[in-house]
Amino acid sequence: MPLATMKEMLLQARSEKRAVGAFNVTNYETAAAVFKAAEAEGRPVIVQLYMRLFDTGKARDLAPTLRAMAARSPVPVALHLDHGSTVKQAEDALAWGYTSVMYDGSRDPYPENVKWTRHVAQYAHALGATCEGEIGHVAQGDETALTDVEEAVSFAKDTGVDALAVSIGTAHGYYKAEPKLDIPRCAAIAEALPDVPLVLHGGSGTPLGDVRRAIECGIAKVNIATEFLDTYIKSTLRTYQDLNGGFVPPDKLADPIIDACAAHVRRLIRFFSGLD
Ligand SMILES: [Zn+2]
Repeated sequence: MPLATMKEMLLQARSEKRAVGAFNVTNYETAAAVFKAAEAEGRPVIVQLYMRLFDTGKARDLAPTLRAMAARSPVPVALHLDHGSTVKQAEDALAWGYTSVMYDGSRDPYPENVKWTRHVAQYAHALGATCEGEIGHVAQGDETALTDVEEAVSFAKDTGVDALAVSIGTAHGYYKAEPKLDIPRCAAIAEALPDVPLVLHGGSGTPLGDVRRAIECGIAKVNIATEFLDTYIKSTLRTYQDLNGGFVPPDKLADPIIDACAAHVRRLIRFFSGLD
């Protein structure tokens, strides 16, 4: 069963002190790179699209392709809405064939976050899909709010989420100064929630030693967007510069770009799996 939800793959990863990589894709080429890397490593993977692509319709148009690629894949693949901010995005994602959704109410007061995350989780579960929520707030150009252990426990219980994004010192985008993760906090949350896989957002640029310690402490999903998409941009730029005004059919032009992106994803999958 190659098209999967996050549930089994994350529970298994957590029990093995490994993490599943969740990579943000924006088009066929970035998606092809992730599938290629996961297949080469024989590891499950999460292909996720940021919520903006659900608003613009790109996630709808990509869905049949992603589902076909997942169906052909020899490894389990979950297709996930990243940072869903409205119920409609989650409903659309599930209607279009995504197998998992995040509802991110982490900027809202606790009761609002619980109310809407639970709503989306119940909706997803009724369709056999999975739901991720976030408690505390991982900075997205704003301020970080570290996750409180007690609040994480009640949030997980009150919402029934399958995976819980926690804030332990990472931030989205590239860092201006090296982050320092609060590993004891991560360990305390994990110990209080032994059956809930934890999610690390803002994985790009986080020192790998810290990522390793966080995985040992219960992080079972690591989100990677910025550094992977930056590899896509830089390898695209290099490929077009090398073309130097010549002509190559664009599908062939894309091959070395996909290969460069796949190599990047492969390195991370190996690291998250404890192979390197
Ligand atoms: Zn995120």
